[in-house]
Amino acid sequence: MRVTTVVIGAGHNGLAMSHCLTARSIDHVILERGEVANSWKTERWDSLRLLTPNWLSRLPGYRYDGDDPDGFRTMPETIGFIERYASVVRAPVRAHTRVTSVRAIDDGYEVATDQGEWQCRTVVLATGTTAVPTLPPFAAALPPDIRTVTPTSYRNPEQLEPGGVLVVGASASGTQIAEEILRSGRPVTIAVGEHVRVPRTYRGRDILWWMDGASVLDDRYDEIDDLTRARNVPSPQLAGSLDRRTVDLNRLTGLGVRMVGRLAGLADGKAQFSGSLHNKCELADLKMNRLFERIDAWATAQGLDREVDPPHRFEPTRVEASPPLTIQLSEFRTVVWACGFRPDFSFLQVPVFDFKGRVRHDGGVVQAPGMYVIGLSFLRRRKSTLIDGAHRDAPDVCDRLAAFLDRTPLEARESP
Ligand SMILES: Cc1cc2nc3c(=O)[nH]c(=O)nc-3n(C[C@H](O)[C@H](O)[C@H](O)COP(=O)(O)OP(=O)(O)OC[C@H]3O[C@@H](n4cnc5c(N)ncnc54)[C@H](O)[C@@H]3O)c2cc1C
Repeated sequence: MRVTTVVIGAGHNGLAMSHCLTARSIDHVILERGEVANSWKTERWDSLRLLTPNWLSRLPGYRYDGDDPDGFRTMPETIGFIERYASVVRAPVRAHTRVTSVRAIDDGYEVATDQGEWQCRTVVLATGTTAVPTLPPFAAALPPDIRTVTPTSYRNPEQLEPGGVLVVGASASGTQIAEEILRSGRPVTIAVGEHVRVPRTYRGRDILWWMDGASVLDDRYDEIDDLTRARNVPSPQLAGSLDRRTVDLNRLTGLGVRMVGRLAGLADGKAQFSGSLHNKCELADLKMNRLFERIDAWATAQGLDREVDPPHRFEPTRVEASPPLTIQLSEFRTVVWACGFRPDFSFLQVPVFDFKGRVRHDGGVVQAPGMYVIGLSFLRRRKSTLIDGAHRDAPDVCDRLAAFLDRTPLEARESP
């Protein structure tokens, strides 16, 4: 089968690309191994609500129009939102079609699937940045009687054995899961490395309202100092809940979670933790205060100071004087690996990877003619991995793709 563009993946990013391609009359197909919104249907825990408020999910040609703009979607609501988008933009999705390889051919790419082959001139990788949970290299050394789960396999505390739980990682997934498991009555220890601390609410408004208004979420990939570092920044300690509570480390330790440094290794029946906990927490507090400075300056410049609460600062993260550097593994029945995610491009048989196995791209334009990627961390903007990121990233990437097609018309390539 032949088509101008193959989009791989029917999450919101693949659908947003589809909308932009349709607007430019570029014929295309979306190949999806499961169904529309597959990740939200199969890889999220039961109680999860989006950490982004409903209004912060603008997509090309679509936006939230309900009566609860400041609420946080449950998983069924998120799935419904993305399925409605697919139907509104009439996305040409081929469900249950898994891409097994993409290889270069004379005039584009051959995309092999478990349902047949496609030839196309351009291909868009929209398979998600959170495809595979990352595990530390020593994870395999964990004794087999300790059960392990990841944010994609965790569903609820009932699936865990009674007994102690070690949550490794203190970003959005780790902090939310730690709180839920603690509430189930199990003792929880959280291992904390680099993290991003933000409150749910600042000066009376949602923190993401401020970050959107002050254009923090719109910081561009080609205008920031250290892009490699920015692309590795973990997700913020934020949760979407009906009571709009902040789920930071002070809350967790206040509830009874034990906090230790980054998990550094496993040896002699013990978990070993880094001694950097104080530094990591101080750094996160410092960066949070820098964010507030940017927000405060924007509020003043916009003349908002009379409309919102006055600027204030939060209590620094409380860390015990000498957190334990080792704990007997026998204290834990379960380990939750919440150390982040990586994309899975194992189907790509095109030399586009750097020495760390990451796809080389410039703002979504992959270093292979006619190949594009969307949805990766800081792809074009700080918010590229949020649903709202597709609002501007998809049109930008589609512009590049259309320009490529204009530059390399098929007839010209086929003429001798
Ligand atoms: C736990 C968690 C919570 C999150 N919370 C929020 C939030 O509150 N707000 C927010 O804005 N963002 C949130 N995100 C981030 C982001 O919005 C999601 O990760 C989102 O799913 C990414 O959309 P996507 O379209 O890029 O990828 P996905 O939604 O992952 O879609 C990729 C699609 O590609 C398909 N696919 C993969 N490989 C193949 C293949 N070989 N062949 C065919 N199809 C394939 C998959 O089945 C999937 O449907 C969260 C992410 C996680 C992990």
